[in-house]
Amino acid sequence: MSHPAFEIVRDENIAEINSQAKLYRHKKTGAEVLSLVNDDENKVFGITFKTPPEDSTGIAHILEHSVLCGSEKYPVKKPFVELLKGSMHTFLNAMTFPDKTAYPVASQNLKDFYNLVDVYLDAVLFPLISEETFEQEGWHYELESLDAPLVYKGVVFNEMKGVYSSPDSVMHTLTQNALYPDTTYGKSSGGDPKVIPELTYEQFKRFHRTYYHPSNARVVFAGDDPADKRLEILDAYFSRFERIAIDAEVKLQPRWNAPRAVSGTYAGTIDPDKRRDGMVSVNWMIEPAQSREEVLSHGMLSYLLAGNSAAPLRKTLTESGLGEGMIGGGISSYLRQPMASFGLKGVDPADAGKIEALVLDTLAEIARTGFSAEQVEAAVNTFEFNLREQNTGSYPRGMTYMFNALGTWLHGGDPLAPLSFETALESLKQKARGEHFQGLIRSLFLDNPHRATVKLEADPDQGAREAKVEADTLSSVRAGLSEADLAAVLERTERLKALQESVDKPEDLARIPTLTLADLDRSIRTIPTEECTLGGARALYHRLPTLGIAYLDIGFDLHVLDKALLPYLPLFGRALLQTGTGKEDFVSLTQRIGRTTGGIAQHRGLATRQDGAGTAAWFFLSGKAVPDKFGAMLEIFSDVLLDARLDNRERFRQMALEEKAGFEARLVPGGNGIVDTRLKAGLTEAGWIAEQMSGVSYGRFLKDLVKRIDSDWEAVESVLRRIRDTLFNRGRMVINLTTDEAIWDRAQGELTTFAQALPDTHHADADWSHDFAPADEGLVIPAQVNYVGKGANLKALGFDLSAASAVALRLLNTTYLWDKVRVQGGAYGGSSRFDLSSGNFAFLSYRDPNLTKTLDVYDNAAKALRAEIGETDLVRSVIGVVGDLDRPEFVDAKGYSAMWRILNGTSDELRQRRRDEILATSRADFLALADALDAVAAQGHVVVLGGEAAINAANEKQPGLLSVSKAV
Ligand SMILES: [Zn+2]
Repeated sequence: MSHPAFEIVRDENIAEINSQAKLYRHKKTGAEVLSLVNDDENKVFGITFKTPPEDSTGIAHILEHSVLCGSEKYPVKKPFVELLKGSMHTFLNAMTFPDKTAYPVASQNLKDFYNLVDVYLDAVLFPLISEETFEQEGWHYELESLDAPLVYKGVVFNEMKGVYSSPDSVMHTLTQNALYPDTTYGKSSGGDPKVIPELTYEQFKRFHRTYYHPSNARVVFAGDDPADKRLEILDAYFSRFERIAIDAEVKLQPRWNAPRAVSGTYAGTIDPDKRRDGMVSVNWMIEPAQSREEVLSHGMLSYLLAGNSAAPLRKTLTESGLGEGMIGGGISSYLRQPMASFGLKGVDPADAGKIEALVLDTLAEIARTGFSAEQVEAAVNTFEFNLREQNTGSYPRGMTYMFNALGTWLHGGDPLAPLSFETALESLKQKARGEHFQGLIRSLFLDNPHRATVKLEADPDQGAREAKVEADTLSSVRAGLSEADLAAVLERTERLKALQESVDKPEDLARIPTLTLADLDRSIRTIPTEECTLGGARALYHRLPTLGIAYLDIGFDLHVLDKALLPYLPLFGRALLQTGTGKEDFVSLTQRIGRTTGGIAQHRGLATRQDGAGTAAWFFLSGKAVPDKFGAMLEIFSDVLLDARLDNRERFRQMALEEKAGFEARLVPGGNGIVDTRLKAGLTEAGWIAEQMSGVSYGRFLKDLVKRIDSDWEAVESVLRRIRDTLFNRGRMVINLTTDEAIWDRAQGELTTFAQALPDTHHADADWSHDFAPADEGLVIPAQVNYVGKGANLKALGFDLSAASAVALRLLNTTYLWDKVRVQGGAYGGSSRFDLSSGNFAFLSYRDPNLTKTLDVYDNAAKALRAEIGETDLVRSVIGVVGDLDRPEFVDAKGYSAMWRILNGTSDELRQRRRDEILATSRADFLALADALDAVAAQGHVVVLGGEAAINAANEKQPGLLSVSKAV
């Protein structure tokens, strides 16, 4: 069966992804549709347009935001937010790339899926995109009163200010622009805040007319939804268009015949003692891969060179002492002509020449000597494991297929080619044993003159200088305005605000399709778990179909450790896997892990127990392997747990430097998480530990540790030994295995032997009492945006809320906070979080231009909850919360979740009771949360991570509001 409006171009079975793949062309418009039919319940739809920008005004990005603000069929202010609030989506977003804009959705519920698809199709093809939406999402002048200064406002304008505050983002943009100066990749597709105000509404409208047309669309459907219906849905929309010719071709960058050098700066500080504010990378433009085998080959070469800390190029760079951590790391093929990048961050900019020489010399050396057989075998096994497992984590699998297909499809290639791999892999495996990769290093890098060495360094004056340029521009614009012009700007400001405050008509809101409560499962989903004892250790087993892979987690209870040892845990965990063991160095250990397993990782689990019995705090080592190699994987576990080279000072120093650089890089993009952690540090034990292992305290700890590794290594090493000797014992351990029945039968014996080899000590719980007092703090970072938080522990304030509070919170997040903090405030985001078991509550904003204004919004949140709540809003919010509870998990995550629920005291009875409370949410639950939020307003603590000027201004306005210190 097919549809008369479409012609079929291809029809193939792709065994590797267990899918029937059909490629269609819409006869009337030329739209192309890739229809993948498989048994995946998590259905995916995505429509993508080629949108190559010609400048750095962020036009494609602003349009991506704006089409989701109301359409012909759904003329409400924010259909996207209605979907966010009240659908069972497992994915819902839109993304602007340097050459395309993609609109993907996913859901496990068929009716919900169709709702999402319809709202998205109407949004992209028939958006309202009014001038007010352009101003709100893009940019506009704002004037609060006739004598106030003129300012820029706009969601994307602020979002990009945040992006340009992150040195890593600045480096990324600088590098891409440097390699492709003559093409669309030479522009900033997200938008440069300095250029965004050049964009006009007319250009913006024209961009939509030009590119958002079926003739320029590539659509993907994937999953178990009926295939014929897909074409029916699309034709209903596409048949309203006539075919047009669209020139959206991404032009090829002409090749250079000599390398270039480019440098830039970012707003940041310089350490007067030792400069380490620089980043340097060596980059190449390479020719597009001509076959699937070539794509895999590029991926494998990147892995061989830099895929893990033992890979020769990464190892040489990190051991050089020239920087704190590697950047780049291989070939990325999301641009028409791929790029390759290798470099270092945390460097003295004066060392740029040394770093360039080191990259080139190391590549030349590897091209001469080749990779060892062990290295190649480890890389091949790792690749093959990943290709076969297709573990996309929480990301819908169909979306991975969509983006893989677009890689070739967008530029006129075959969308099916990137979905298969067997033939290509077999052929590459043969070649990998020869000198294939040596030749590739020569042709892609050493003999390729299209190379740019990029250097970025801090400029301490840049922030103030750019702020002044912006202020000067605005005051000269203001000076050029007549009284009447100013009055008009003031009027527009007020009109936009009034529009933002206005509510949609109930009949329009009702047009957004939604599920009803009757469509929801009343019961929780459970995961099979059997419990037993193996070799004296507690063992959990989850009988689930895993396609022949065994997923193993080994957990150790952290309560046995002295509190002073806790900040060492993240690095201690890395040291287990990256220092080597008594019998082999870390290069050889890394290769053994690559040859034997699908990967071994270390991580920590931390939460206030749901049953009120204190804190669950665990260290985990997790690995996966095929049955034949399960025993060999356990040997690796034993080796690293009992015999890691904790005396390897050089490796430990490099890891500490990388960890510190990683923490600093996280401050800006992850600022809301840092604020959240800090707010909760004084509220609960789990919050306090999280601050020690990932918050600002951790950042300060790392700064000091890096010095102590040089000044007092013996003390550091003895701490690491103490952790190992105390933590690893079978008395306070849990074994968690998720796999098929047949593997479990033989694994029990191997796990018993493994457990018996561990010490049988029984340490008591250490004393974790602490005196971290919550405070109102301003943590200074060199950024133009803020992360504003306010929080409290609702239990400590005397409130005992039900699980239904999650519904009230969801509505608060998607209406009041979205409107006030994002739409009107101009922040990229604003939301609240509440953890029922601990009672911890926090308001958080993301890339926020405001500070005290946002705090006022938080303090008035209770009023919003007391307002009349429509039935539609209530039902949608319940659906949204249930959708979150029922998020699909990959099989390894299912087994892990089941274990974690046991470790943190979440029984199935408790989960069902909470689900019942959520399904029965009423207005009383909103009022209960409102009372609690009044208490947060009165007694909560404030933590702000942000620019010094903003924090000082807030303290001037409200003296004593924040005690100020540098974040790190
Ligand atoms: Zn955006």
